[in-house]
Amino acid sequence: MNDWKLPWEGGCRCGQVRLKITAPPMVTAACHCTGCQRMSASAFSLGILLPSDGFQVTQGEPVIGGLHGPVRHFFCPYCMTWMFNRPPGVDTIVIVRPTMLDDPSWFWPFIETCTREKLPWASTPALHSFEGFPDPAAYEPLMKEFAERFREGFSPRAPTPAKAPVA
Ligand SMILES: [Zn+2]
Ligand SMILES: [Zn+2]
Repeated sequence: MNDWKLPWEGGCRCGQVRLKITAPPMVTAACHCTGCQRMSASAFSLGILLPSDGFQVTQGEPVIGGLHGPVRHFFCPYCMTWMFNRPPGVDTIVIVRPTMLDDPSWFWPFIETCTREKLPWASTPALHSFEGFPDPAAYEPLMKEFAERFREGFSPRAPTPAKAPVA
């Protein structure tokens, strides 16, 4: 019995790259930085922090994209979907985009980062907001609270729509 119903599988838009996740998420996030806005072609990106040993590419060969800098952003070489990141200097963590999962319906962002750069209307149900990125020391209590919230089945309310529906 495991609450997360692992393993999860997922893939890119075209299906040539496939992923498998065998470890529970450490934390979930939305990032409003302008880099994520460009790469996601949207207001913010979504991510699941996972231990690297709970993540595998099971099919295809993702390629590096984005800035080709210290953060390694991996893309499908054919459909160019942005699939996951590997942070600089930390081989034990991978950040996977939840919308790659065959079933992302459980996902909501527990934290949001870089709200200083967000589009004025963009809001998420995240319980913790950071103007930049949290201090590395902040992650341990965040991960603990994340595990507790999800174990209790907590689910945030969807943000209230800004306008009433047209009658
Ligand atoms: Zn693809
Ligand atoms: Zn970002």
